[in-house]
Amino acid sequence: MAKQPMLKFVTVDRDMPEKRDAKVRSHDFDEIYAEYAAAKAEEQASRCSQCGVPYCQSHCPLHNNIPDWLRLTATGRLEEAYAVSQATNTFPEICGRICPQDRLCEGNCVIEQSGHGTVTIGAVEKYITDTAWENGWVVPVVPAQEREESVGIIGAGPGGLAAADMLRRAGVQVTVYDRYDRAGGLLTYGIPGFKLEKDVVMRRVAQLEASGVEFVLNCNVGEDISFDAIRGKHDAVLIATGVYKTRDLKGPGSTAEGIVRAIDYLTCSNKVSFGDEVPEYESGELNAAGKKVVVVGGGDTAMDCVRTAIRQGAESVKCLYRRDRKNMPGSQREVQNAEEEGVEFVWLSNPVGFTTGVIEPEGSGAGAGRVRQAMVQKMRLGQPDASGRQSPEVIEGSDYAEEADLVIKALGFEPEDLPKLWDTEGLEVTRWGTVRADFGSGRTSLDRVYAVGDIVRGASLVVWAIRDGRDCAAAILEDLDAPAAVAAE
Ligand SMILES: Cc1cc2nc3c(=O)[nH]c(=O)nc-3n(C[C@H](O)[C@H](O)[C@H](O)COP(=O)(O)OP(=O)(O)OC[C@H]3O[C@@H](n4cnc5c(N)ncnc54)[C@H](O)[C@@H]3O)c2cc1C
Ligand code: SF4
Repeated sequence: MAKQPMLKFVTVDRDMPEKRDAKVRSHDFDEIYAEYAAAKAEEQASRCSQCGVPYCQSHCPLHNNIPDWLRLTATGRLEEAYAVSQATNTFPEICGRICPQDRLCEGNCVIEQSGHGTVTIGAVEKYITDTAWENGWVVPVVPAQEREESVGIIGAGPGGLAAADMLRRAGVQVTVYDRYDRAGGLLTYGIPGFKLEKDVVMRRVAQLEASGVEFVLNCNVGEDISFDAIRGKHDAVLIATGVYKTRDLKGPGSTAEGIVRAIDYLTCSNKVSFGDEVPEYESGELNAAGKKVVVVGGGDTAMDCVRTAIRQGAESVKCLYRRDRKNMPGSQREVQNAEEEGVEFVWLSNPVGFTTGVIEPEGSGAGAGRVRQAMVQKMRLGQPDASGRQSPEVIEGSDYAEEADLVIKALGFEPEDLPKLWDTEGLEVTRWGTVRADFGSGRTSLDRVYAVGDIVRGASLVVWAIRDGRDCAAAILEDLDAPAAVAAE
């Protein structure tokens, strides 16, 4: 009888790829997890219980066929595992690295529920596709037949790129416009290299180019070219512009020099990692080296900022968040990584103002208008509100000063006012400013105009942007084949 290759969770413990030592990794921007060796990937994949109703699959936004590619990996059939994995996911090696698996696939793994420790789904997914790249199995798209229709995609983030890939597979001519000088959106300029190394993103962009996708970079739609001009050039237009308006700090001194936006700080650091010369980094404006850094916020953007500041050589890095550890929106795994690297979390703390002045030693270049301290109110968690979440309440008389000469605002992002920026009539937005679009197709209020990703959902996840982009490409193809205009209600 053939040996049973699966259900090894009873005898084999969960084992993640090795994490580099915090003392070493906190000096560079390389990813913190090593790669599985082949035998280890097979062993870990073999822990899957192949359950009849795979909750991991239903909780993956892409409904990846996880049990099948785990079984193929466990039996050494990696090329087939890759074929199954990429059939539902445009960028499996990226999701394997940065999906919050504890909230998605792994968090719903049946053997995790029974106390055996989840199958390391993300790490195996990454291993399969990294191996596919090494072996040359990832090849540019060659459509069976070219089509005449063209689609213009505004925004080269994961949502736009996933749609571009699917449309090229169908032979559609695709042009992607982006205001940055490199494609990838937040994969390139938001998420730091220690979570997602940049060559992983750039090889995908190069592959799309080799598949015939045209990129028009350094092109800010609304400034360098109008939205109407793009509509005039293409048979359909997809808006995948993400959300970039930073929520601001309030209170006296909150516009002082040295208080910066997380997106500017992270973009600058990522550009430096590419080897670009960035004046704001050279001048110290967006460089934490030697500084007392305070990051305000408790989400994943805040985690990326604190860990970047550590790597830039900050004197100290503190993260201020108004709720406690249990109630923060960021991933617990990231908090742990940050703590190991030397970040201090100051829970239940809310900055209400900032003092400014010359920083000692005088002549260090810091002007009188530069931030020196954050004035912080201590909070406690009160009664749960209607949503069940406890609201933070101020502890009167608890204010104190936190030394800071670089403050990074990581309080979340909101959509820019696209109809105004683009002078577009008829593009409906929701009361949150996101583009009103049909989930599942991306159709908007304008004929042959679609929208996907964060600009529709609000700040969300890469895996959801990919899902939206793929679904929307299918709807665009359907509409291109049906001459009558189709618009959302
Ligand atoms: C710091 C940070 C860390 C994150 N970490 C994670 C993580 O670990 N895991 C995860 O799943 N998600 C993470 N996210 C969220 C994730 O990055 C986003 O949900 C995802 O990138 C959204 O994809 P998108 O394609 O909708 O938009 P984006 O990735 O934002 O791409 C939008 C693109 O549109 C371009 N654009 C915008 N306006 C214009 C214009 N007028 N003209 C031309 N181009 C324009 C932008 O330059 C950009 O390239 C993180 C987000 C941030 C900010
Ligand atoms: S795409 Fe994300 S949620 Fe889906 S299997 Fe991969 S890591 Fe899990």
